[in-house]
Amino acid sequence: MDKFIVSARKYRPQEFNTVVGQAHITTTLKNAIKNNQLAHAFLFCGPRGVGKTTCARILAKTINCTNITPEGEACNTCSSCISFNDGGSLNIHELDAASNNSVDDIRSLVEQVRFAPQAGKYKIYIVDEVHMLSASAFNAFLKTLEEPPSYAIFILATTEKHKILPTILSRCQIFDFKRITTNDTVEHLQEIIDKEHIKADKAALQIIAQKSEGCMRDALSILDKIVSFSGGEVDYQNTIEHLNILDHDYYFKLIQHLKEQDLAAALLLFDEINRKGFEGDMVLNGFAEFLRNILVCKDAKAAQLLDVVEGMQEKYYATAQNLEIGYIISSLNILNEAELAYKMARNKKLHIELSLIKLSFLQQAIELSTQNGQIVKKKLVDDAVGLKFRAIQSLQVKPPKEAKLFVEQEPKQPATKTITSPYIPEEKPVTTTQVFEPKPETKKSVIQTASSQKNAVKKSLLDVLREKAGDKYTVESVKEAEPLTMERLTACIELFTKKLDEAGGKISTVSTIQSARVELISEIYFKFYVPSITAQKSIDQEKSSLIDLLYNSFNNSAINFSVELEEQEGQEEDRPVLLSSRERYELMIAQFPMIKVLKDKLKMELDI
Ligand SMILES: [Zn+2]
Repeated sequence: MDKFIVSARKYRPQEFNTVVGQAHITTTLKNAIKNNQLAHAFLFCGPRGVGKTTCARILAKTINCTNITPEGEACNTCSSCISFNDGGSLNIHELDAASNNSVDDIRSLVEQVRFAPQAGKYKIYIVDEVHMLSASAFNAFLKTLEEPPSYAIFILATTEKHKILPTILSRCQIFDFKRITTNDTVEHLQEIIDKEHIKADKAALQIIAQKSEGCMRDALSILDKIVSFSGGEVDYQNTIEHLNILDHDYYFKLIQHLKEQDLAAALLLFDEINRKGFEGDMVLNGFAEFLRNILVCKDAKAAQLLDVVEGMQEKYYATAQNLEIGYIISSLNILNEAELAYKMARNKKLHIELSLIKLSFLQQAIELSTQNGQIVKKKLVDDAVGLKFRAIQSLQVKPPKEAKLFVEQEPKQPATKTITSPYIPEEKPVTTTQVFEPKPETKKSVIQTASSQKNAVKKSLLDVLREKAGDKYTVESVKEAEPLTMERLTACIELFTKKLDEAGGKISTVSTIQSARVELISEIYFKFYVPSITAQKSIDQEKSSLIDLLYNSFNNSAINFSVELEEQEGQEEDRPVLLSSRERYELMIAQFPMIKVLKDKLKMELDI
């Protein structure tokens, strides 16, 4: 078995067409080689273990091959190919930028670039994990990358493209490597298994492929480990054991118990799983994944997303038939919340058990909220809501002066015992209390009358307000926002200072506002000009109450104002004014504009 331990290296692809799952890249590279249109710098991006370095090495070998096949592959027989395959070629330089990320490392690389290759056509520089280079190293690299000698080719590889400087990106031909799909991984593993004459279940290979999440290197090393651990027989059971994966059968059992609302069985099952050494968060996560797979089974189109071991699909479909989508989604929700809170939970086991309790009562909860398969909508509180609504309607209608009747008859609700009863003749002032003469009715109507009475009180309050406001205070005037005018604004400010004075506000503030110059800037914006910062602050303190008053008088919530310092000449000397650093700076540059030029040239920042 010893020879198998290195399958990741042993089965590293040697030609473009053996690279797994990156056909879009290998085809492009082959065509570029055939047409002699090679770029001088490449950037290979993509997740780890998907073949970036492998492709870089194949590219290096192929372009140096003296006998390229018509398909654009290396011949693997010429002296250059042989030295590449042995790892003895001098035309390939690999730099791991993760550990050599300083300027000096890059400088020595740039030094090397100056020497032409002694044999072969090209020298290839592979810089792995290029995003780890320091900013200064990047800069040292830029010039060479832009104008490399004709024999030099750079291949930069990274897992984090977003960390690469745009200046580098723009100089490279970029190739995005894809995650290797589960199917591709399984096929590749199968090939290796066949070559090594090892027995392996397809299900086991699928589990390995799923676990490796598109990283071929991981898949191969997992396979290596399981082969050595199982003595050459890879099956589903020893694979899940080795990978510490919970068998799906447990999830099938668990969902069954939960669906049957058998809490005891569910808790016992979790205990059993826990005893096997599976941590709670793994169970939550695994169960959520399981439910996700069940959910995709519910829809014929989404079913292709079903990512399970071969032979299990039928079981998933059958289980999906017995579960409603609502139930699955609610369960996923509970699981998701539980997973998020898992870290915080002090008693992890209890935390999982609580989630199981929630899940087992979920079915009941759903049944409660549905009636005959239909979700019960909230009952409308008909009379109270209806009355309010009608009251607003009648406001818009703008009834004749005398009519204080806001309640109009609604034909659809003849049974409602409200003030709209025939007691009220149209066009005749009626106080609402009159309506509620004792009515011999059932208990129900008493409640209704009570709620109606409540509304009646509200209405009469509104009446009072309307009477106070008089005729001019119509609905339209409430709704329409008015623009600022100087005349009304001055009046408002006067009113405000008067009120402020009455309320015992500071005399200084009152006089400041009175003496401030007001300038109307737009329909909703004006400015106060004051002579000092103290005055500015004192007006600012009253800003919210003044704005409130303006909102009310103009019905315009967009109104705003600011308080500015009046530009003064020759007054600075008269009395000392406390200036902030920025103000001092601005004063300075007003007098000596060169100071700003100096500041900009020296790239100085204001320290305030
Ligand atoms: Zn060759």
